[in-house]
Amino acid sequence: MKEISREELKARLDEGAEVTVIDVLGPEAFAEYHIAGAVNVPFGHEFIERVQKAAPDKARTVVLYCTNVECGASAKAARIMEERLGYADVRHFPGGKEAWREAGLPLESGSEHIESMPEIAMCSMEECAYNEKRHCHALAITVGGPHPRCDTFLRSIDKGGSANGSGRVGACKVVNCVHNRALECSADAITVSPHETHPDCATFAPRLSGTD
Ligand code: SF4
Ligand code: SF4
Repeated sequence: MKEISREELKARLDEGAEVTVIDVLGPEAFAEYHIAGAVNVPFGHEFIERVQKAAPDKARTVVLYCTNVECGASAKAARIMEERLGYADVRHFPGGKEAWREAGLPLESGSEHIESMPEIAMCSMEECAYNEKRHCHALAITVGGPHPRCDTFLRSIDKGGSANGSGRVGACKVVNCVHNRALECSADAITVSPHETHPDCATFAPRLSGTD
């Protein structure tokens, strides 16, 4: 797997080369700051599906980075893209976003992608670590399949998540829901409520056969 230096990456971006820059950190770290123009594909269990949607042209150069040289996620992700997914030109930028920031190079913050995700309007699973006053504060939950349970649920009295943020649906594996489009939720918002011992998406609506 080839590496790319900060100087070479900057030169390629400046000349308008066909490069897809991928930040493999989680959505919260990406929203804090990232290399200008980068797309966010967190290195996790759905990385393979998501990265092929984010970078559909396997002939185009892709550059992956994470925080700094001590962060191994982008090197692992780059190896998967090159060896398992067949991308032709995969580069790893080992310095990551810290090296980019140290050099005063262009950064962005925020995430349009996060803002376009459906909000969790209400969750009555108050024993969840991410729940405060029936509001979810996980930045992006995963809804599991085939049953529409919240896979991010964590029973704990210690509270976590983003203090100011409102929870959103990051991914959904319930393909037989009418709101599911390519493993993402297309509802405007969802609600979550207990079902037996776990929380379920209460907005789930089964797809009838013959409908899309
Ligand atoms: S939606 Fe899921 S992660 Fe968020 S508070 Fe409810 S159970 Fe917890
Ligand atoms: S509404 Fe449907 S697609 Fe959206 S999170 Fe719930 S089960 Fe998944």
